[in-house]
Amino acid sequence: MSPKINELSDEGLKRRRLLAAGSCYFGGKLIGWGGISPSPASASSPPSGARPEAVSITHDAAFQSWTLRNDVFQAVLRLNRGTGAFQLDEIRNLTVNEVWRLPANSRSFPIAVELGDGRKLSAANSFLVTGQAISELPRGGRALTVELAADDGTLALAVQFDIYPAQPVLRHQATITNRLAETVQVRRANFLAWEFAAEGAQHDAFAVHQWVLVPREANFDPQEVPLAPDGPGMVLSTGSGGAFCAWLAVCDRQQRGLFAGLEFNGRADFSVQQAKDRVTFAAEVQTLNHPLKPGASMELPAAFVGVFHGDWDEAGYRTQRYVEAAVAPALPDNQFPYVAWDSWGYLQDIDEVTLRENARIAAELGMELFIVDLGWAKRMGDWEADPQKFPSGLRALSDYVHELGMKFGLHFAFSEADPESAVLTNRPDWTSSETYNFHGGESICLGHQPVRDWIIEQGVDLVRRYRVDWLLQDGQTLVKECRKTTHTHHPDDSNWANSEEGLDVIVSEIRRRTGVLWENCANGGSMMTFKMARNYVTSITNDASGSLGSRQGAYGATFPFPPRFADRYMPDDVLDLYTTRSFMFGGPWIFMNRLPELTPEHRALAAREIAVYKAIRAGVRDGRVAHLTGRPALGSVDAIQSYDAGSDTALAIVTRDGSGADRHTLRWRDLVAAQRYRVRFETAPSRYVMTGEQLMTLGVDIHLPEERSSEIVYLEPATE
Ligand SMILES: [Zn+2]
Repeated sequence: MSPKINELSDEGLKRRRLLAAGSCYFGGKLIGWGGISPSPASASSPPSGARPEAVSITHDAAFQSWTLRNDVFQAVLRLNRGTGAFQLDEIRNLTVNEVWRLPANSRSFPIAVELGDGRKLSAANSFLVTGQAISELPRGGRALTVELAADDGTLALAVQFDIYPAQPVLRHQATITNRLAETVQVRRANFLAWEFAAEGAQHDAFAVHQWVLVPREANFDPQEVPLAPDGPGMVLSTGSGGAFCAWLAVCDRQQRGLFAGLEFNGRADFSVQQAKDRVTFAAEVQTLNHPLKPGASMELPAAFVGVFHGDWDEAGYRTQRYVEAAVAPALPDNQFPYVAWDSWGYLQDIDEVTLRENARIAAELGMELFIVDLGWAKRMGDWEADPQKFPSGLRALSDYVHELGMKFGLHFAFSEADPESAVLTNRPDWTSSETYNFHGGESICLGHQPVRDWIIEQGVDLVRRYRVDWLLQDGQTLVKECRKTTHTHHPDDSNWANSEEGLDVIVSEIRRRTGVLWENCANGGSMMTFKMARNYVTSITNDASGSLGSRQGAYGATFPFPPRFADRYMPDDVLDLYTTRSFMFGGPWIFMNRLPELTPEHRALAAREIAVYKAIRAGVRDGRVAHLTGRPALGSVDAIQSYDAGSDTALAIVTRDGSGADRHTLRWRDLVAAQRYRVRFETAPSRYVMTGEQLMTLGVDIHLPEERSSEIVYLEPATE
């Protein structure tokens, strides 16, 4: 398989460092492991007496168990000497002391792999531990890597388990290595195979669609189902072009819950099922046929499971804080998420004069990022600026945008090419066998290594040539299907080749070599995975679906993903407060208005609303989202809240969308009951002081005079 450049560049080879069994690596010091387990306190305190460690990994040699622990969470793995099983004994929510245990007669094992000849590597195998190591991860995390040899000797396995400070989450990633003298075909890979005792409880499962147009439109609609014992459970098609975000949560009726997520952009079937005595997860890579040469290794996708206590908002909040702490790229700066302008209001009818005029006004209005959308290049595939549209060159426009104090963004549909483009004229075989009809282009196969390498060079070159700060990825279904026998991938392995060896390598390698920021889009948010959240700073939700659609997209996406991963494109539409506030909650707010055509009144309104957005964005980005009403819908009032525990402040955006009543009682959540809060409004002049208790039970009366109107309400601790 091809090198995983992204992994090498990101967390680095250093975590691969394996130490002999019997030693352990803590805080840069080796600590011997005798027959007695060091206590977490002694193991995690470096001899220098520096700060106490926020995470610890300890080994108990007598019981052959490993405990990964932080202040809120603990996971215990064990090699069962009786059965030879390597199993997850328990994960524990230390804040409420709830535990998820290994079911009776189970061998909860992280993965299940099957080869073409029927041989398997799964919970059924017996294992020997052949190596173990503890290493430090960026951002305060620690990793335990256990090397396992299976009884049948076909495959060797190394599993890395990660834990981060204050996050109730166990992440794992398995690497399999072919020990045979012949090539084997990996035909099946379930990379999240944990199971937990059901403890006789009834469970519900919760998931969220991504942006889907076929067979029917779904716009981040949440879905909740009860898990009946031995019923069908919940099965989600996830990844590029799938139906659901790569995340689900499970909860019993006492609010004891689990959430899980997948770091895989290819298609997977992600499921949870309940039998009488157990809850079982699975994440099966779809249509896998991956050849593994003698001695070669395959890194399976990473996945994580976490614990929570509470409702689906709590499941989302715990996931989101974990993603920000351990998965997502660091924020580019404290102004993120940006206010942006995108040229799609002109479709492809753009030129340097029009764009310069828009850039000047965008900067005046306070925008921070200026994106030139599809239509800038000679053709898709010929990734240089159209000299007819840019007689002064695209670099001159980029320089002008930078002079105005904005970042320069560029649309890049690298998985598509015009049939007339030079690349397809010279290399007609680079197309994928399935084409996806993106603006008249042919699709090209990112899983074919020469294509991948060519795109990386194109991307690096255009970022440098045009001084691009931000790449807006686009295309139709980035992980293409391709059955060609002339490509470097196996004809039945394009799901894997186009994601793990194609798209992911392209994005991370261009990012590594240039530092450019990536926005995820594939004709909308149709690849909502935690691999996406690892490589991109944000993602589109729906694709310019109007004000109601914007609120619906942000509503659903802010269960699995931090708010910064819900960006919204505001179409060229009437500018009023209902519209602007429908686009205000979440990640980057992207205007597509033809700015020179705005009236002075509309420009003034846009400037005021941009200032409002800038005042609230950090709080929303870092806060806890509460979905105060059901999903936004015509004929109703919807409200979404963000609460920042650090400052004990909150805000809510309340929107009336054609409902009959002009008043709404807003009942808050998550506040400090005894705290006295000052209540103020963005539009209404009223001011109150109320306790958290009153705000959460009696609520605040919101006046929404127009059939389509919106209000922002703020809470701050009352100082007197
Ligand atoms: Zn191909």
